[in-house]
Amino acid sequence: MIIKSNRKVTCPNCGEFADFSPSNPFRPFCCERCKLIDLGLWASEQYAIPVHMQINELDEENFND
Ligand SMILES: [Zn+2]
Repeated sequence: MIIKSNRKVTCPNCGEFADFSPSNPFRPFCCERCKLIDLGLWASEQYAIPVHMQINELDEENFND
């Protein structure tokens, strides 16, 4: 009888195999970084960058005219 104590799960963030066991405090994620990303703590600054529409290009054309 074989007891699979080291179950492998797919990390919800990066898709890598993660160790789904009590020894992995970040399960079902593969690492702390992936867990933080999923919680929005890691990438919050990156996604917080506002996207500026390049609407000023039209004004520049008017200036050159
Ligand atoms: Zn991961």
